[in-house]
Amino acid sequence: MKKSYLELNTNEIDSLLTVLGESSFRAEQIHNWIYDHGVVSWGEMENLPQSLRDKLENMIPLHPLRITKISGSDSKSTRKYLFETLDGQNIESVLMNDRKRTTVCISSQVGCAVDCKFCATASMGFIKNLSVGEIVDQVIHLQTQSKSRITNVVFMGMGEPFLNYKSVIEAAKILSQEMGFGARRITISTAGIVPKIRQLADEDHKYKLAISLNGTDEKSRNTIMPLTKTHSLKSLIESAHYYYKKIRRFITFEYVLLKDVNDSPEDGERLIDLLRSLPCKVNVIPYNEIGGKYNRPKEDKIHAFLHSLKHAPFTVTVRWSKGTDIDAGCGQLAVKDLA
Ligand code: SF4
Repeated sequence: MKKSYLELNTNEIDSLLTVLGESSFRAEQIHNWIYDHGVVSWGEMENLPQSLRDKLENMIPLHPLRITKISGSDSKSTRKYLFETLDGQNIESVLMNDRKRTTVCISSQVGCAVDCKFCATASMGFIKNLSVGEIVDQVIHLQTQSKSRITNVVFMGMGEPFLNYKSVIEAAKILSQEMGFGARRITISTAGIVPKIRQLADEDHKYKLAISLNGTDEKSRNTIMPLTKTHSLKSLIESAHYYYKKIRRFITFEYVLLKDVNDSPEDGERLIDLLRSLPCKVNVIPYNEIGGKYNRPKEDKIHAFLHSLKHAPFTVTVRWSKGTDIDAGCGQLAVKDLA
């Protein structure tokens, strides 16, 4: 499969420049154009001789992704981007602006194998893992599209990041080292791949960790998140304690609130019991409907659930997702608008 320049490792870049009869300092120049200036074509690299730009143009694509569609939300603060990979697959990313922060939500896989029952991406099945370059390129492109500097990156788009662990960690490293995102500005979200949470802790990565919880006992979580059969809720919470002991960083638990599934005050009480001794934050996300069998609870039910968490020993926030009118809300990415 054809690779883009952004996906080449150092040795491959050296070989390319040797074939072209160029010295290695060109690699540094190209690197600066990509990461400091975010250029999207070889032609824009003004300090490269025109003959070299032409040769590169004919030999290798600069970026592994190209934007094929932009959807703007009614609120205008959220835009969804459809990208095409060099092998013709499609992924989505979301750019969100508020007054204080500009956040991008990026994908780590095309489709997803985890099969959470409430998630639009799950309906695509698993197609492929994204390469490191394909992950990083989403941020590079979105920076060129954003009026303000991107401040935060969240791995919460299509795919389960920990089922593409090596590339996700490598991409996070590039975002941090080459693009200046501090580890606290990068959040990796998992549905609960327990061994990888432990590996993240063992490897001492300081990125923020979010866990998509959505259930407060084994049985009910299993009905909406079948991975609970392999990675039990008990082992998930144990791994969260393990992570906290090693990294000393609060975990965010995402709790997608589904009507008549996990929205009762009893669920709220069980949630408190489950997380009582773990320094963490809980982010309640009233469900963004995708036309399937699950629904968002009515406002009064949402408030009753939140009330049941009133005395929780952890911070509770509510995320009223942005961009739901363009299917860019949490759990709504599924590449259905290719037209
Ligand atoms: S919620 Fe995340 S892990 Fe679950 S199916 Fe959707 S993309 Fe995959």
